[in-house]
Amino acid sequence: MSTRAEQYVADVLAREQVSPHLVRLTLGGAGLTGFLSTGIADEWVGLVVPGQYQSRYYTVRSWDGAELVLDVVVHDVGLVTEWAKGDCVGDRVTLTEPKGSFAMPADAAWLLLVGDITALPAMARIAATHGGSVPTRIWAEVPDQPEHLAGYLPEGTDVAWLPLADETSRLAEVVDAIDWPEGDGYFWMAGESAQMRAIRKHLMRERKLPSTAYDVMGYWRAVAARQPRAVDPGPIWRAGKAAGKTDEQIWADYDRAREQVET
Ligand SMILES: Cc1cc2nc3c(=O)[nH]c(=O)nc-3n(C[C@H](O)[C@H](O)[C@H](O)COP(=O)(O)OP(=O)(O)OC[C@H]3O[C@@H](n4cnc5c(N)ncnc54)[C@H](O)[C@@H]3O)c2cc1C
Repeated sequence: MSTRAEQYVADVLAREQVSPHLVRLTLGGAGLTGFLSTGIADEWVGLVVPGQYQSRYYTVRSWDGAELVLDVVVHDVGLVTEWAKGDCVGDRVTLTEPKGSFAMPADAAWLLLVGDITALPAMARIAATHGGSVPTRIWAEVPDQPEHLAGYLPEGTDVAWLPLADETSRLAEVVDAIDWPEGDGYFWMAGESAQMRAIRKHLMRERKLPSTAYDVMGYWRAVAARQPRAVDPGPIWRAGKAAGKTDEQIWADYDRAREQVET
């Protein structure tokens, strides 16, 4: 039995500038035959672009059985950023098999989503998938004017657009100031890793949320050079649970693993 993870080759069929910092790539081709979505609303794939061997993770914005859409944030420098800024239509990329971690309990009374622009594709898909069944509120910290992103989220979404001033994320302060709804719900968040670490501690220590009530993921690390390869939290989570570790210990393992990964 092969234990090798599935990989897919895909062709870039179209490139569209959605906003100054967001580029939409539509992928397709015969290599995607057999791509099987997990159905999990924040599902992601690893993307390897031409001439590179390292992957970067991107949310599957949509998959209709033939075409797969990724929305890529173009920031200053980076493997994928620099490739996606150029004319990449016709290029061939590799995708790893999809994974997801959003796990809202069936009886959740509300859903809160917080993130920066890298989390926007996932928040849009989560809102489209679950927003109709449970009251949902989004806080999105973006470097672009909200009018550029009008229509990005499903119509009627309750969203607070937060400007990203001085390139400094203030999401930890935003979470501190949340007026939490009554009852038990689900909190999902993603963005820069250091902010996410602070927020996880706040949720565990101050709000005393059980681990089933939230999912907070570091999507990228603010480092001077290129980004270390992202680490899949799934195996670390399962190994930690099997070893009887607390959620806090497991997330500390995850953060350490990310820091140790070599570029
Ligand atoms: C599960 C998951 C899902 C994700 N989904 C998406 C998605 O849908 N869309 C998306 O755009 N990103 C998404 N990301 C984040 C994306 O993988 C990282 O931002 C990645 O580092 C970008 O790769 P790069 O090659 O452009 O830059 P890298 O080569 O990785 O980094 C180069 C430099 O840019 C800095 N940098 C990296 N990311 C950012 C950023 N976002 N803003 C400012 N500086 C940055 C780094 O600190 C480094 O100094 C996701 C990450 C995860 C883990």
